[in-house]
Amino acid sequence: MFDGSGGAGGRYVPAPGEDVSCALALVNTRRMDSGHQVDLIVGTSQASHWLADRGLLPSGSVMNDADAGRLAALRETIRALFSARAEQRAPVPDDMSWLNAALAGAPLVPALTWDETGPQQSTQLLGPAADPVDVALARLAGDALGILTSTGDRTPAPCGAHGCIRWFLRTHGARQWCSPRCGDRVRAARHYARHHPAPDA
Ligand SMILES: [Zn+2]
Repeated sequence: MFDGSGGAGGRYVPAPGEDVSCALALVNTRRMDSGHQVDLIVGTSQASHWLADRGLLPSGSVMNDADAGRLAALRETIRALFSARAEQRAPVPDDMSWLNAALAGAPLVPALTWDETGPQQSTQLLGPAADPVDVALARLAGDALGILTSTGDRTPAPCGAHGCIRWFLRTHGARQWCSPRCGDRVRAARHYARHHPAPDA
């Protein structure tokens, strides 16, 4: 059976770009696995764990139902904005409003940090402690904003394999699949089609 996660034996293989983009990783928490849709952030416990695993929420934090709903809504907003960008069309105004509301939920300012690899740009919370979920959603929205407005060589692209709903960051024009597994599946389908033409073809 098709495994849209790109993994084998149940192990999750991230799509290209998930390591650098929490917004992309969020979008891919809803994906197809063996023909069924899976959702990694359904419910407050899973949503809290996912944010903590990405370093976006202090571990041990517990979200309420409304917070989990906001996270899921932001995911669909980001997915819709990625689609608009990939299809080179204007997004639905509500999606822009939702992203901007998440950005405004916790004012984050750019900050210079320095680690062993040198200077880095990060964001820091402006003002007194805000709701940690607001901060997490603002960071996710900020990451999405960076990807959407990037003029560099990394653009969000939907996997071209039938039945796969994952997105990846395309770093060169040729890449069309989120994983080698999806690429293999498409090549196998093309091979089959070539040797088994449709009766009315
Ligand atoms: Zn795929």
